[in-house]
Amino acid sequence: GGPGVAGAADLLARAERVTVLTGAGVSTDSGIPDFRGPQGVWTRNPAAERLSTLQAYVEDPEVRREAWRQRAVHPIWGARPGAAHAALVDLERSGRLVALLTQNIDELHQAAGSSPELVVELHGTMHHTQCLSCGARAPMGEALERVAAGEDDPPCPHCGGILKSATISFGQELDAGVLMRARQAAVDTDVLLAVGTSLGVHPAAGVVDLAAAAGAAVVIVNGEPTPYDDVATVVLRGGVGEILPRLVAGL
Ligand code: NAD
Repeated sequence: GGPGVAGAADLLARAERVTVLTGAGVSTDSGIPDFRGPQGVWTRNPAAERLSTLQAYVEDPEVRREAWRQRAVHPIWGARPGAAHAALVDLERSGRLVALLTQNIDELHQAAGSSPELVVELHGTMHHTQCLSCGARAPMGEALERVAAGEDDPPCPHCGGILKSATISFGQELDAGVLMRARQAAVDTDVLLAVGTSLGVHPAAGVVDLAAAAGAAVVIVNGEPTPYDDVATVVLRGGVGEILPRLVAGL
């Protein structure tokens, strides 16, 4: 197949195994802003990046209070999956999906109907809290109820430690088992499809190199250039909600 959507669709049609990597760009149509896109949270307000660094969160109670204020009203809580999420459910139904690696913390792939066993949450989930001291996890709703009741920085109910969303902040290690599973899926695939991600965050973006080195075709769908466009077999520039349904339509 040639370049463009038809060429990428042909690569998918001929593949037995497809591994997908998604980023915040698959959820912008659902009303959740990305970080680095043209309308991104950090593009508009570079100082907001500090809220996502572990050191600032641990050292500065005001950062934690601001984080809880934002979590309480986060667009994630009202978001519905979009056309890109639905297209990836169709890809799974075609029998090709090895794993759906996501950097997103919104659980919209599961909400759309992707099998939870195939979704690998590289950066965790906002739907749970995790204690930075004892590691205890609990539903986010429990902490948000305490915030609504007036606690501005609710401590861990078990040990009194600092509570955070169960997500990976800058300065925080990815879960080793999760990362290993993602890397395995990247080397055991015929096509690596990267969707709606700036591919600027490591180690997540490194799965593209691993797949390419293992001989997989790489298809990138994103609204902006990425550092991996050079290694890609096909780069499709445009909206993921428009392009992904066309990619999987014939499978
Ligand atoms: P990013 O913000 O770095 O990159 C998103 C990319 O998607 C950008 O290049 C942007 O141009 C592109 N994009 C945005 N909307 C698009 C659309 N409709 N069609 C095509 N392209 C579109 O996101 P990232 O690479 O995922 O890294 C940011 C990190 O922040 C993630 O690792 C994640 O942990 C976290 N995050 C998660 C969410 C979420 O869960 N929805 C949202 C924001 C940030």
